[in-house]
Amino acid sequence: MCGIAGYIGKNEASEFLMDALKRLEYRGYDSAGVAVLDKNGEINCVKSVGKINALEKKLKEKNLSGRSGIAHTRWATHGHPSEKNAHPHCDCEGDIYIAHNGIIENYKALKSKLIQAGHKFKSETDTEVITHLIESHFQGNLEQAVLNALKHTEGAYAIAVISKNDPGKIIIAKKSSPLIIGIGENEYFIASDPSATVGYTDKVIYLDDGELGIITKDGYKIISIIDSNEIHKDHCKVDLDVSEVQKGGYDHFLLKEIFEGPEVVKNSIRGRIIPDEGLVKLGGLDVLDQKKLRNINRIIIIACGTASYAGLVGEYMLEEYAGIPVEVELGSEFRYRKPIIDERTAVMAVSQSGETADTLASLLEAKRKGALTLGIVNVVGSAIARETDAGVYNHAGSEISVASTKAFISQMTVFALLTVYFGRTRNMSLTMGKRITEEIQKIPSLIEKVLESDGQIKILAKKYSGYKNFLFLGRKYNYPIAKEGALKLKEIAYYIHAEGYAGGEMKHGPIAMIDENFPCFFIVPNDSVYEKMWSNMEEVKARNGKIIAIATEGNEDIKDLADDVIYVPKTLEMLTPILTAIPLHLFAAYVGIELGCDIDQPRNLAKSVTVE
Ligand code: GLU
Repeated sequence: MCGIAGYIGKNEASEFLMDALKRLEYRGYDSAGVAVLDKNGEINCVKSVGKINALEKKLKEKNLSGRSGIAHTRWATHGHPSEKNAHPHCDCEGDIYIAHNGIIENYKALKSKLIQAGHKFKSETDTEVITHLIESHFQGNLEQAVLNALKHTEGAYAIAVISKNDPGKIIIAKKSSPLIIGIGENEYFIASDPSATVGYTDKVIYLDDGELGIITKDGYKIISIIDSNEIHKDHCKVDLDVSEVQKGGYDHFLLKEIFEGPEVVKNSIRGRIIPDEGLVKLGGLDVLDQKKLRNINRIIIIACGTASYAGLVGEYMLEEYAGIPVEVELGSEFRYRKPIIDERTAVMAVSQSGETADTLASLLEAKRKGALTLGIVNVVGSAIARETDAGVYNHAGSEISVASTKAFISQMTVFALLTVYFGRTRNMSLTMGKRITEEIQKIPSLIEKVLESDGQIKILAKKYSGYKNFLFLGRKYNYPIAKEGALKLKEIAYYIHAEGYAGGEMKHGPIAMIDENFPCFFIVPNDSVYEKMWSNMEEVKARNGKIIAIATEGNEDIKDLADDVIYVPKTLEMLTPILTAIPLHLFAAYVGIELGCDIDQPRNLAKSVTVE
């Protein structure tokens, strides 16, 4: 999510800052801005929506000269992508400027207090509260004001702050979002990651959570945000090229993004769970009339591709635990049907980009017919986000790889949250609400465990990459995962044909294809349909089919039937798909690599499908 840059030293700040923003482009952004302190002690700021070259053009007209400054590429989470929401943000007087990456969860409460105290807000962002908090604590020393301000914030941040009333320094701080200091000679660089500083310096300090840095042109000091004690840190040498850094040490964005799974779930649930009450709070839905929400007696989920499989998982969750009838419709079908909709129907559009043409058209059709429209989208301010009555953002961060993995994991997570959200205002008990929310919070560490199978999956990919056809089978919550596993293999390892079926459907057709050349993935965690899946495995075995099983840790029996087993940890049945999807994503990625496919940009595919 987003990029931060900062510079203080002997050269023109804007040269590094603009270069850094370009290097950080890969992180995804919708707007950008830069603020520089000039030799007269004034801070000049330029912002623009869209690509960095738009900002560059503006900079040519308004020359930002000065030897310290900060810059930002924004991936909107609160407020549309617009010039007024772009960073850096300033306080009431334009004395303090900040670039922020992350989410301030308690911004609403802080904002109303600050407004009461007379502060004037110029943007819709959560970030702006930090600027005004710093302003309200400022007594001549910027680091002290930042320290005091941060004591009031909850959530995630990487920040870089400058002030004309305490010039000659940049204050940085980190909690959950990345930030580094690059050490030059009589100059210091600040960035979200070292891809921005490659070529400027190879000496880098990684800031840790809870640390605040005071950077001047002559040196730096790092202190603890909690007790202000100095922290001594060694720098490390970064010998990578830009693209290596951008891929986070992975050879491909796809792999980097699969490995971001734990972070994705953390970001999707951050600030949304009230554990003691077994409740979920979703700011995006709270804006609606609660009576209207309680009145919903049917949900139609509209989506395409991978998102439609997340929708199927959502259908099972919502029906089982929230007691609301749900249907999942493909955008490309729904828009040309004659759907039956009334004012108690909620139509929920699911799309990573929020621009998927078929989903958007269906949504507009539903709106015309009087449905309450809701969205689950990743890109803030996208068309679907704008057109819906209310919605939930994924906060999954940007996805570079064309095949969607992060968004898929996040969409299922959001459906789990929605299930508790809707369920608790209906029949779901406090105990069940607590049980589900507790388990959702464990998912990031469970995903980490699943990712430990990486080496094994790589070996399996080698073993099976010579086969031309695959079948993926699952039931109930893992039926959509069978579809997803097959889709990902087709997309990423595009020389292979794969089908995903519901386990029970196998004998109605696909079984005819099974022989020793047709490997079958069975997604069989220990759940309520385990016995049924076992019978399906027997049927495949009886026809000499090869079986790769995804099973729950500790299940040794499965080895009697399966040729290979990938284990996932135990969790609630409704949450198993979030775990079982991950080995299938990894398998598709590694088979794609084996076959020499371009796994980040598979042939014939586009990231955002904005055509019919
Ligand atoms: N939450 C902030 C915003 O929406 C920062 C987003 C980012 O990390 O780019 O402006």
